[in-house]
Amino acid sequence: MADEMELLKEWIKTSKNIVFFGGAGVSTESNIPDFRSTDGLYNQEYAYPPETILSHSFYKKKPEEFFRFYRNKMLFPNAQPNAAHKALARLEQQGKLKAVITQNIDGLHQKAGSREVLELHGSVLRNYCEHCGRFYSLEDLMEKKELVPKCSCGGIIKPDVVLYEESLNQKTLEQSVRYISQADMLIVGGTSLTVYPAAGLIDYYRGNKLVLINMAATVRDGIADLIIKRKIGEALSEAVE
Ligand SMILES: [Zn+2]
Repeated sequence: MADEMELLKEWIKTSKNIVFFGGAGVSTESNIPDFRSTDGLYNQEYAYPPETILSHSFYKKKPEEFFRFYRNKMLFPNAQPNAAHKALARLEQQGKLKAVITQNIDGLHQKAGSREVLELHGSVLRNYCEHCGRFYSLEDLMEKKELVPKCSCGGIIKPDVVLYEESLNQKTLEQSVRYISQADMLIVGGTSLTVYPAAGLIDYYRGNKLVLINMAATVRDGIADLIIKRKIGEALSEAVE
């Protein structure tokens, strides 16, 4: 492991166009659980699996049940950036890291100071009335007393989060492809790379410094140039000066 960390440090030192691609594991160290890994827990409390509740058709059919789950399990207004978020923000300030591409929806990269953050699955911090398009912050949404939040115009306020059955934002995808294809180093962390189409983005990388940082093996370990099996926060804070 010492050798692998030395190599990671060396690559970061010599790279000028680093891109980070991250998943739920980046946020678990801020105590935001990955809802996919804890299905069993929710089954006792909800009649449907999270993937069903967080789908577009379910949102339309049973908004009360959707928002009960969403408010209880998806919102963490007090979560704080962890060592991984902070190390990535530092790397951007040093001019080395060009973008963070994330599957997370919690806004913690921006809270840590990162500026170029591409949110593939949207953000809980943004909410829009489905009828008039008015913007609501997370605080606005949480202040609404009714379970299904309503705009002053009567429309339902929908979180700007990509639900199952919904397509990713095309512009965000295109920007991600551009960043990854131009990167001289790609660091992938906190994801098992099983959620498509997001996971397929790393195929656009054309360099020879693809680093996977993940505690468990991923389905794409075979294509990595360097694999580090450590907690993402530990590994990044140690590697970034
Ligand atoms: Zn409205």
